[in-house]
Amino acid sequence: MSNFQRTLKRSVSFSGVGVHSGSVISVEIRPASANTGFIFQRTDLPNKPYIKADIDSVFDTTLATRIGSPAVSVSTIEHLMAAFFGFGIDNAIVAINNSEMPILDGSSAPFLTLFDEVGVEVLKEPRKVVVIDKVIEVVDEKNPTRFMRIEPSKKPLITYVIDFERAAAIGRQNISMHYTAKSFCEEFSFARTFCLKEDIELMYSKGLAKGGSMENAILVSKTEGVMNRQGLRHEQEFVKHKTLDCIGDLHMLGMPILGHIIAHKAGHDLHNKLARAILAEVSCRSIIVPSAKEEARFKAILSFPKSLSEIDRNLIGLAVG
Ligand SMILES: [Zn+2]
Repeated sequence: MSNFQRTLKRSVSFSGVGVHSGSVISVEIRPASANTGFIFQRTDLPNKPYIKADIDSVFDTTLATRIGSPAVSVSTIEHLMAAFFGFGIDNAIVAINNSEMPILDGSSAPFLTLFDEVGVEVLKEPRKVVVIDKVIEVVDEKNPTRFMRIEPSKKPLITYVIDFERAAAIGRQNISMHYTAKSFCEEFSFARTFCLKEDIELMYSKGLAKGGSMENAILVSKTEGVMNRQGLRHEQEFVKHKTLDCIGDLHMLGMPILGHIIAHKAGHDLHNKLARAILAEVSCRSIIVPSAKEEARFKAILSFPKSLSEIDRNLIGLAVG
C-alpha cells in the first residue's frame, strides 16, 4: 500500500453509442494533476465548458446520474466513475462531444480494459479517506422501503438488496461483498445494465433509449424473462449492476470510504443522497489523510491493481470475451 493519488499515464480515446441519443459519441480521458478530481469537458459546445463531477454537481438521477446543469450536462457517468474506483484513479479530465457517456457493453469492464492499455501514474500528493464513526441513514420519503445506510466497520463492505416485484426474472436478490478495488474489478465490473421490455415503449415515446440494444443491456420481459440469447453473465448480475452503479455514484466523493454500506431497493437518487449525507454529517464521520503507521488499518481501501494482470481474468473475461 502507498497512499498516493493516481491518474492515467496517458490519454485514452474511444467512441461508442449513447444509449438514449443513439448518437456515436467520442471521448478522450486525459491524465490530470493531483487534487483535480474528475472534470468533464463538453467539447461540442461553444467555449468547451467544464463540469466538475462531484456530489453537488448531480442534478438529475432519473435513469442515470447526470451532472452539470440543464444547459451543460453529461449523463450516464456512473459506469465510468465505478471503473475509476476499480483502478484507483483519483484525477482525470473526460473530454466528450455529447451530453451522455457511450454505453459500451452496459458495464464498467470496457473502461478497465482501456485504463489497462495506458497504465497508471502515481502522483506526489496523498489521498484523503472517509471513516464512518456513527450510522448515517437516508430514506426515500415517498417509499420508506427504499433506504440506504452506512455503518462503522473495520472492513469496507457493501450490501445491496433489490426487489423487482414487477419482473420475476429479476425478483429479489441480495449480495454482501468487500467494498475494495480488487473486489469491484473481479466481482462487479462486468455486470450490465438492464431494462424491462415493457418500459421501452414509454422510453421511446419520450425520445429515449434510441441506442439501446441487447449489445449494451440485459433486456427482461415480464412474461418471457431474460431476452438476451447468451443469457446472464452471472446469476446475480442484476444486483451486481446496482452495486456497480452505487460504487460509481459514491466515487464522486473522491475518497475511499471505510464503512459498511447497506442499500435496500436504492437507486441513483439514494446513492447521491447518502453521499451528500456523508459530507454533511460531520459528527458521524472523519476525513483524514492516513499516516504510514495506519497502513494496516486502511490497507483494504488503499490497495489498487497496477494492471488487470492482478485481476482474476476468468471473471473479467466474462465481459471482454
Ligand atoms: Zn448502471
